[in-house]
Formats: sequence, structure tokens, C-alpha cells
Amino acid sequence: MKKLIVGNWKMNQTLPLAKAFFADLKTVELEHEAWIAPQAFHVTACLQMAPEGIWIGAQNVSNEEHGAFTGENSPFSLRELGGKFVIIGHSERRQLFNETNAQLALKVRKSLSLGLAVIYCVGETLAEREQNKTFEVIKTQLNDGLKDLGDYNPDNLIVAYEPVWAIGTGKVATPAQAQEVHSAIREQLGSKTTLLYGGSVKPDNASELLKQKDIDGALVGGASLKPSDFIALCQAPV
Ligand code: PEP
Repeated sequence: MKKLIVGNWKMNQTLPLAKAFFADLKTVELEHEAWIAPQAFHVTACLQMAPEGIWIGAQNVSNEEHGAFTGENSPFSLRELGGKFVIIGHSERRQLFNETNAQLALKVRKSLSLGLAVIYCVGETLAEREQNKTFEVIKTQLNDGLKDLGDYNPDNLIVAYEPVWAIGTGKVATPAQAQEVHSAIREQLGSKTTLLYGGSVKPDNASELLKQKDIDGALVGGASLKPSDFIALCQAPV
């Protein structure tokens, strides 16, 4: 079954590296669907360089379309360029930039209304997991961040479960831990929503995670930067 592998390049990758990355991707037929979120200044170039079928998106957007919001990036403009999706509520946005569920809900609503696919990220910290608060935290992030969404295409709503303790740490959730949370999210949101797991996904652990019943794909940081790793993820047996 086809899965969805999304690369979050964060503020990494130079243009020459991005060019080499897409040139390598053009040499293979990928088993799974692949999307890449480069930094905002690289979206236009990546749209031109990416092989057909690979969607390019953004790592964050404003909840406004136009206006006096110096330094913000408009979701309308992303759509206008040909960008197809946006990651909203990544734990780095929540922790380093203090984005709240209420602010994220506005971004999700605006992006969905413009026809962008949204990857809404949720996940507990290590302290929250140790206090047995995982399910409560995620339920609140879903309830409050996906509130009053208005009319949208349900295929465009994707949720990424990314335990904060597993992001960039090399500590991956076990397939059972990930499945347990995904199943709870599925129960809360219904069967239509695509659910990605994120947190230290690598070529050597991807298959076991992707084989879980409620894991429809992966959101990948570190291992999405190197073409050989990303290609291996996109070919992972499931
Ligand atoms: C991420 O930043 O979304 C992520 C999952 O990073 P990594 O794969 O490096 O843990």
C-alpha cells in the first residue's frame, strides 16, 4: 500500500544541495508518495527543480492572506506559486516561537480554505509522557488546533504525531507506542484523516513503523536531507 513520506528540510539545505537532491530523485521511481517542505525562500526554486509528482510545500504560513504583516508569508502566495501543502504546529514552532493551539487553528483554517493541504503536528514532551499525559495533551492539541475549520476538503487534512522527545534525538517511538497514539487520534478524528508519524524516522526503522495499521506515512527531518536516505524511505517495504 502506498504511504506518504514528507521531508521537512527545516532551515537546512543550500540551493546546490537541493538541486543535487532532486536530480537524484529523478533517477528512480518511488514506491511511496513524496512531498518536500523546503525553507520559504527556496520554495520557488524547488517547484522548478522537483520531479513531476513530488509536491512542494511550506513549513509555516501566516493566518492572513494579505496586509500589513511585515515578515510573514502568505498562504495565498504559496498557493499562487504552485505550493500544495503546509506544515502547521511543528513542535519547533510551538516551543521556539510560542505558537499556541488557538493561533494554529487560525492558520489551519485559512490554509484549508485556500485549498492547501495541511499537515497539523501534535505530540507530547518527555515530561508529559512520563506523567501519563500523552493522550490528554494530544486530545487538546487536536480539539483546540482543529477548531471551527469551516468548509474544507477532508482529504486535505493530515495529522502528524511527532513525540517531541523523538524529534532530532535519534530516540524513535516503538511501532507499538506510535500505533497506540495513532489509533487514539483515528478514533477522535475519524477514518478519513491521513496520519503521519514523525520523530527520528530512518531507513532502518521506517518499515516497521509504516506497517502499523494506523500509520499512513512519515514526517521526516534529518533523514530527508540526504537523497539516498530519503529514497530508501520512499522505497520502504510495507
Ligand atoms: C521533524 O522535525 O519533523 C522530525 C521528525 O525530525 P527528525 O526526523 O530529524 O527527528
